[in-house]
Amino acid sequence: MHVKKGDLVRVIAGSDKGKEGHILTAIPKQNRVIVEKVNMVKRHERASLNSAGGIISKEAPIHVSNVLKVCTSCKKPTRIAHKFLDNGKKVRACKHCGASLD
Ligand SMILES: [Zn+2]
Repeated sequence: MHVKKGDLVRVIAGSDKGKEGHILTAIPKQNRVIVEKVNMVKRHERASLNSAGGIISKEAPIHVSNVLKVCTSCKKPTRIAHKFLDNGKKVRACKHCGASLD
C-alpha cells in the first residue's frame, strides 16, 4: 500500500471528499484504511465495561485508492514516487517536490 498508519491523507472520492485526517488503522489485506473522522457511521453498541452503550459514531474503512498522502514538505496531496537512498533503502517520495516521505 502507498500509505500506512499515521500518514496524513486527503480523501479524493466519496462523501468525505476533500477531508484530511491521519490514518488510524491500515488493513493491507483489504487495501483499506481507517482515517480519523472520515466515513463516520452510526453504530448501536451494547453496554460494556468500556462504554455505556447506545448509539456511537465510528470510522468505517475506506479503500486506499480514495486517499492520497499529503506531502509533509509541500503540503499537497500527492501520488507516491519511489526512490532509493544511497544506502539502497527504498523510500516513498512526493511527486511534486521530490521530498522523502519516510
Ligand atoms: Zn511535496
